[in-house]
Formats: sequence, structure tokens, C-alpha cells
Amino acid sequence: MSVIERPSIDFLTRPKRMLIGGEFVDSSEYFETRDPATNEILAEVPIASSADIDSAVAAARSAFEDGWRDMAPTERQLLMWRLGDLLDEHKDEFAMLEVLDNGKPLWEAEAVDIALSVEILRYYAGWPTKIHGDLLPNSIPGLLSLRKREPVGVVGAIAPWNFPLLEIIYKIGPALAAGCTVVGKPASWTPLTTLRFAELVVEAGIPPGVINILTGPGESVGGGIAGHNGIDKVAFTGQTSTGQEILKRSVPGLKRVSLELGGKSPNVVFADAHREAAMAGAFGGIFFNQGQACVAGSRLFVEESIADEFTEELSDKAKAIKLGQGLDRASEMGPLVSASHRESVKGYIDLASEGGARIAAGGGEAVVDGLEEGFFLEPTVVDHVTNDMVVAQEEIFGPVASVLRFSDWDELVSMSNDVPYGLAAGVWTSDVNKALRYADAVKAGTVWINTYGMFDVAVPFGGHKMSGLGGRELGEEALDAYLQAKSIWIDLEAAVPTQGQGISR
Ligand code: NDP
Repeated sequence: MSVIERPSIDFLTRPKRMLIGGEFVDSSEYFETRDPATNEILAEVPIASSADIDSAVAAARSAFEDGWRDMAPTERQLLMWRLGDLLDEHKDEFAMLEVLDNGKPLWEAEAVDIALSVEILRYYAGWPTKIHGDLLPNSIPGLLSLRKREPVGVVGAIAPWNFPLLEIIYKIGPALAAGCTVVGKPASWTPLTTLRFAELVVEAGIPPGVINILTGPGESVGGGIAGHNGIDKVAFTGQTSTGQEILKRSVPGLKRVSLELGGKSPNVVFADAHREAAMAGAFGGIFFNQGQACVAGSRLFVEESIADEFTEELSDKAKAIKLGQGLDRASEMGPLVSASHRESVKGYIDLASEGGARIAAGGGEAVVDGLEEGFFLEPTVVDHVTNDMVVAQEEIFGPVASVLRFSDWDELVSMSNDVPYGLAAGVWTSDVNKALRYADAVKAGTVWINTYGMFDVAVPFGGHKMSGLGGRELGEEALDAYLQAKSIWIDLEAAVPTQGQGISR
């Protein structure tokens, strides 16, 4: 197999810098980011110091108070639209950078990561002119009450590595539309697209300090942002355990927090499902993005009467997946994001096997010709998993489908809900009543019926239970997490208060 040469991208040749208050900033310390298909170093990336965090937060504060918050919505919308246009103009470069840094297939970076990022910026560019308060009916004669919706202030936006740019845009879009300013941090395995995006922020004419980008380790830089006194709200996506840390750090200052966390989603195939569609949904549900998706349909519940043949067909399809470099359009699946992550995923497969489950496909590290240093893993199907096994309970975050069989409705619902997570669920059946009953019964923030993994800018997304807290991303609802209400009372009759403390009722 021929290895595709790294494309010549000017950004990769330049020193990487953070964006603080409209200026590109170096550091005295750097870390490496690597191409997971080759394990080659792609770039040296700055580590923000605590002084950098202070400067970024101060820049975001003054940009908030001295301009962005009060800028005419028509101007804010233009700037946001321009940023979306610039990203669109550079979409090919961004897709390649995402593939190089994360490993995902190019078509996916193009169609999902970058295309959706552009749509989000354009969608939220439409909101500054539409966010409004209201006149509320009260029952007190002569008094008018208004509700304003004000931006919460400076937002710390912390993103994971599985959809690197997209995840930070999920937060920047509604934050900017609401009138907030941002201090953002990408994941350390995948910082490149966010740093390149910082250049577009300046090119688009977004005022200095409105968007600041810092890079560096989660504990010191992410934790430093999350706990900073100058941050009003933290918007975080990542592991549930990290979300819990962030929540703890938010307590002293009672910061607003929104957390999008892990998942262990059930994807249910009834015997009466359209077989071909359900197979495509089961396959894509777990193998999309190398299984490194929060919504991965990692618990595949198959009705007992079709379970043998369904699992066999899925396993055959998994074995036929063409692994390769994401840049190679013939590749159906890329490497996992890092050596340590592959090790963690492999550890789960070994645990399943030791626990009595049957490895029906894959199960081991994969070696791709010419890419022997890459972090490839065989697409894996584990059959005869029971709900008490670790692989059925914990998020694996890799290309590992656990097949659980069911024959009874109550058992299905009980097993579906018997995990700490509640992010998403899928159900495949030709009986619409059954599908809707399942959608009612399953504890999840999103339910897909006869489809899986659909997202749209207008449709809110987020988790129940330990999959999320504090709001939703996407759609109008995401704005709520970046706005707070202020009630204003006006005495239209200028009545002299008749009771103490100015209470006029
Ligand atoms: P992590 O929680 O490890 O990291 C997420 C981000 O938080 C990274 O930028 C990381 O920095 C930073 N971070 C790490 N430790 C801290 C800390 N103590 N304080 C503040 N920030 C910190 O998640 P992953 O990057 O591994 O992402 C995978 C997880 O994300 C999965 O659980 C997945 O389900 C979840 N996810 C959820 C989604 C949802 O919408 N519900 C969507 C996508 C993913 P660094 O990289 O430097 O460690």
C-alpha cells in the first residue's frame, strides 16, 4: 500500500502560537502533536503559563465589557458570518489538518467536522438579531415588568479530541451570538485546527480579546481556565470524570457550567426492522470516527430470534473494513488517536474476552502496510455480552460493538437504562408504536428511530444522567446556557410606596 505524503500546508511550517487579546503569543515551553497514522511529529505547540491564562481572561473581560456585549447585533452578526465564510473558504486545508492531527477519514472531516462548523457559525450569526427579552404580565396595578436576557460574560470553552474544531465551535457559536467572549482550549492530542482557526478570527476582524485560544495540558491549562476567578461560565465537553473535576472547580465562584460528557448508547434492533437499514445503522453507529464518538451505538441490543445471523453479518462487514491513512480516500477507517488510547481500548476487548464474551470480529491491534507505526485497531465485534460486564457499562470510545441479546420488552428497557450514562439511543423496527414506546422508556437526551447519529444545527443535543449537565448544545436551546435573565420593574404611576422597603403592593 502506498503511503500518502503529508500535504504541504503553509500553517504546518509556521511556528504555532496562541491567540491572546488579538496578538499571537509564543511560550517558553512546547509539546508535540503527532499524526496517529504514522506517529510522526506534526508540530510543536505552546504550553500556556498561568500568566498567559490571566492575560487571556483579562483580554476576554475587557473585550466583553468594552465592546462585544454592547455591539449592535447587526454588526456582531456580520463578523460571525465573515468568520464562517473564511472557514468555508479554507475548508480543504482545515479538513486535511483535522485528518493529520486526529487520524479520521478525509470524507468525514469534510462532511462532518468542517462542514458542520461552518454551518454552526452561520446559524448562530443569525441569532444576535433575534435574542430578545419580553414584557411579562404581572398582577400588580400600575407596574410594568420586563425580562432582559443578558450574556453571562467570559466563557471558558474546553474541547475534546474526537471532533476537535467542531467541539469548540459548538461553544464559540452560541457564546458569541449571546454577547459573551471566550477563552478556548483544544485537546492536546488535536490542537492544530483550533490554532489555525485563531488566525481566521483575526483575519475576520473579530475584535481583540473576543476569542482567545490557549493550548497546553488539561490539568494545568484546562483546570486553570475552569477555576479562574475571571471566568463566568465553563462550557466543557469530555469525559464524565473530567466534567466532575470542572464542576468541583466551579463551586467557590459558583460559575455557570455546562457539561457534555460520555455515553454508552443502546442501539436496538428488533426482528421486524428493515434489515439492510438496521445493519447500516448498527455498523455506522459504532464504527464511525473509529468508534471515538460520544454517541457511539456501543451497546447493540439485538432481538434473540435474529441475533446469530445479524451478528455474523455485522462481523463480516467489520472484518472487511479497509483500514488506512485518513488522507487516503480509499480508507474506510483511520487509526485511533494515540498509542495510549489504543491500549486502553484493547484493554477493554481483553477484559470482555476474559469475562466470557466471544470475539466475533477483530480484537487486536492492526498493522497497515507502510504505516507500521500507526495506532490502528481491528474493528471489533464482541458477542454474548451481558449487561453486568465492564464492556457493557463503561465507555470504551473505540471501534468495539458489544452485542447484547434480548427477547423481552421489560428486560430490554431495564438493560437499556442500566448504565450511568444517558446520552443517546437508537431503535430499529417497522412498528412505529413500538419505536415511540421505546423512545419514551429510554433515558437518553436523543433518540434516533430507524436512523442513527443524525445531527443538525437547529436540533439541540445533550445528555441525561451522567452524560451531561447544565444545558444543551446546538439549536436555539444552546443560547440559554450563555444568557441569564434580568427582571426589571417600572412603576408607571410613580406611586409613593405604601409599605416599608418600597414594596408598593
Ligand atoms: P477529556 O475529559 O480527557 O478531555 C477533554 C478536554 O478537557 C481536553 O481539552 C483536556 O485537555 C481537558 N482536560 C483534561 N483534564 C482537565 C482538567 N482537570 N480540568 C480542565 N480540563 C481538563 O476527554 P477526551 O478529550 O478524552 O474526550 C473524550 C470524551 O469526550 C469521551 O468521554 C466522550 O464521550 C466525550 N464527548 C462527549 C460529547 C458530548 O457531546 N456529550 C461529544 C464528544 C465527546 P488535554 O487534552 O490537554 O488533556
